[in-house]
Amino acid sequence: MKAVIVKQPGGAEQLQFQDFPKPKVKDGELLIKVKSSAINRTDIISREGKSGYLSNPILGIEVAGEVVEAAHGAEIEVGARVMGLVNGGGYAEYVVMPAERAMRVPDHLSFAEAAAIPEVFLTAYQTLFWLGELTDQDTVLIHAGASGVGTAAIQLAKQMTQAKIIITAGSQEKADFCHSLGADVCINYKEQSFAKEVLKATDNQGADVILDFVGASYWEKNLKSLKIDGRWVLIGILGGSVVEKVNLMELLGKRVQLKATLLTPRSDEYKKELTEEFVNRAIPLFKQDKIRPIVDQIFPFADIQHAHKHMEANRNIGKIVLHVN
Ligand code: NAP
Repeated sequence: MKAVIVKQPGGAEQLQFQDFPKPKVKDGELLIKVKSSAINRTDIISREGKSGYLSNPILGIEVAGEVVEAAHGAEIEVGARVMGLVNGGGYAEYVVMPAERAMRVPDHLSFAEAAAIPEVFLTAYQTLFWLGELTDQDTVLIHAGASGVGTAAIQLAKQMTQAKIIITAGSQEKADFCHSLGADVCINYKEQSFAKEVLKATDNQGADVILDFVGASYWEKNLKSLKIDGRWVLIGILGGSVVEKVNLMELLGKRVQLKATLLTPRSDEYKKELTEEFVNRAIPLFKQDKIRPIVDQIFPFADIQHAHKHMEANRNIGKIVLHVN
């Protein structure tokens, strides 16, 4: 089978195709014929040799496809249309997936749409509800609102709670799109100070929950935007990882609950529990067409390098998908 590996740590030009034997399934696993895969920031970090937590030489952490082999103990049958997280190996024509993590693709969705769901929706679900503990009375500030995770988080927060949703985005087009998904207050951070706007929108109280993809460059403004006792969930470091001159007194004063997480290196058991809850609580909303996967663009498998460059240029609204088979 054809699969994508990284020749040596570096830019998109290091992504190369290589022939591999089809992976072999173990107990409780499925062999999936991959129809679509999708690009994630973690793939870029792995490509650059900065993640250190993926042992599979083949990149890619999510797929949608058809089950072609089900090992002993798997509850999903051959022929089923599934989507889900894989432990690497997703940029390939075949991949194994733990069966307990496979989600059946709702009938009305294509494989390309299905591949746009697992990583960003599970991340958004986990961070909003398990870590952010979002309630109906809360205000949530979602940075990078038009990103894959951002577009998922806006929809989940809108459909599953009454919370007020504030987003930031880097262009009017992105801000307008977020508004169309249900965000109540949309801030173009390149033209407005988001901290000022968040305070204005919350009676000077600040947001109860912040989904922070940006990290260092937003540190001060996030602190200003957070309500006392607020939950600040750090899930990305697009704006850098080192914060200079942190004044811990400010964290004490606001009784900040700062939480950080990475989904990819979490255990199989954690991903199973997260997937099961998501299937029970969120998948029905896809079936009712209240939530939809947001596909920015579908690239042919051969254009993998362009797909990575497209993400790195911050051009996408929603997910970048690869058409594999
Ligand atoms: P994405 O679709 O590629 O979108 C990222 C967007 O972030 C960009 O399009 C850009 O939009 C904005 N951005 C980039 N650099 C920025 C900066 N320096 N300051 C402010 N905004 C910036 O990304 P994604 O796949 O949804 O992932 C979003 C974030 O979540 C990434 O940091 C990723 O690593 C993280 N993530 C974490 C986990 C986890 O488990 N911790 C899981 C999945 C994803 P604008 O034009 O609006 O600036």
